[in-house]
Amino acid sequence: KCVQAGYTPSNGEPRQIPIIQSTTFKYDTSEDMGKLFDLEASGYFYTRLQNPTNDHVAAKIAALEGGTAAMLTSSGQAANFFALFNICECGSHIVASSSIYGGTFNLISVTFKKMGIDVTFVSPDASEEELNAAFKHNTRAMFGETIANPALTVLDIEKFAKAAHAHNVPLIVDNTFATPVNCKPFEWGADIVTHSTTKYMDGHAMQVGGAIIDSGKFDWDAYGHKYHGLTEPDESYHGVVYTKQFGKKAYITKATTQLMRDLGSIPSPENCFLLNLGLETLPLRVERHCENAQKVAEFLDAHEKVSHVIYAGLPNDKYHELAQKYMDKGRTCGVISFELTGGRDAAVRFMDGLKLANIATHVAASKTMVLHPASHTHRQMNDEQLREAGVSPGMIRLSVGIESAKDIINDLKEALENA
Ligand code: PLP
Repeated sequence: KCVQAGYTPSNGEPRQIPIIQSTTFKYDTSEDMGKLFDLEASGYFYTRLQNPTNDHVAAKIAALEGGTAAMLTSSGQAANFFALFNICECGSHIVASSSIYGGTFNLISVTFKKMGIDVTFVSPDASEEELNAAFKHNTRAMFGETIANPALTVLDIEKFAKAAHAHNVPLIVDNTFATPVNCKPFEWGADIVTHSTTKYMDGHAMQVGGAIIDSGKFDWDAYGHKYHGLTEPDESYHGVVYTKQFGKKAYITKATTQLMRDLGSIPSPENCFLLNLGLETLPLRVERHCENAQKVAEFLDAHEKVSHVIYAGLPNDKYHELAQKYMDKGRTCGVISFELTGGRDAAVRFMDGLKLANIATHVAASKTMVLHPASHTHRQMNDEQLREAGVSPGMIRLSVGIESAKDIINDLKEALENA
C-alpha cells in the first residue's frame, strides 16, 4: 500500500503521482462549474479546497490506516485543529489525554478556550471510572496520542474508545509517532486518526504537513443533536446535509468543503509529492528506526551517567505491556527520552558534545536529532504542566535516525564522557 495505493495510472499516464501545480481547473460551461459549487458534481475547481496530487496522497494514507476517507492539511497542527473543530463549536467540551504534544496541548488549552471550547485533561493512566467522570453533557470528542510526544506514554486505545463510546462521542487519535506501520488505531476502536506527516511519513525533514483520516464508523446521525453541523443543512453550501449526501465520507467532506474553504490550510501539491516519496519507504525506515532505537535505548539504560530511560521497547518500561498489545511486534518508534544523573546542566553539556546527532526541533527523520523539551518545545509550560505532560526539566528527547546504530552509539558515548 505504501508503494502502490492511492494512484493507479491509466494507459500512458505518468507512473509517479504527477505534481498538478495549478491553482485552478477549467470547465466548458458555466453550468458544469456551478454544479461543483452546489456539491452536485465532484471535480476540482480551486486548489485551496482540493487538488488531485494531494488527493492521491490522501487516498494512500486512508488505505494505510484502513479508513474510508482522508484529507491532507498544511501541518499537523492544522490537522488536529480541523479534526476537533469539525465537530466542536463555541460551548463544546473536549476530553483529552494530558500526555500529548506541547503544540496540541496549547491548541486545546489556550486557543480553543478563546473560542469557547472547554477541555478536561485526563491522565493517560486514568482508570475507567476517572475517564467516565471527565465527560460532560456538552463533550463532543475525546483525544489522545498513540505514543505521546515527548513523554512516550502508550495510549490504552481500547480503554479510551470504550469511555468515548459510552458517552456517544468519537475518539480521535494522533498516530504520528507509531505510524500505521506499527499501529492501526481503527482496529482498536478509534474513530478518527490524525498525523503530523512532517514526521515519519515524510521521514526526510522535507515538508511540514498533516493528515486526517476517518474510519467511517462513527454514527453521527444517531447523535444528530450533538453533531448538527454534519446532520442538518449547511446554509453555506445551499443546504447540503453531509451525512445524507456523503454517507461514510461526511466528516471529511465537511472538513474539506467548509473548514478548508474558510480557513485555507491546504498543503502545496509539491509538498504532497515529497510526502508521497517518503511514504513509499515508510515500512523500511520505521523498521530501521525501531531497531536502532532499541539498541540505543539498551546502551543508555546500561550507562552510569544515565539515570532513567523511557522507551517502551525496554522490558522494564511502564508502557512495555501496552506496546506489546497495540504495536506490531511491540515496536513503537525511534524516539527515546532519557535523563542524565547530572540533571539540566549535564543535559546541556551532553547535547553540545554531540557530533553526529544534531540539535534540532524535529523528530522522526532519517538523521539522528536531539532536543531538550523543557527549554524548547514545551517551554510555554510551567513545572506542574510539564509534570502532567510527563516531561521533567532534565529530560532529553533523542530521535534515533537510520544511520548505523554503531555510529550513533559511539557519538552518544563520546558526548556522555564530558557530560
Ligand atoms: N502531533 C504530534 C504527535 C507531533 O509530534 C507534532 C509536532 O511535533 C504535531 C502533532 C504538530 O505537527 P506539525 O509540526 O506538523 O504542525
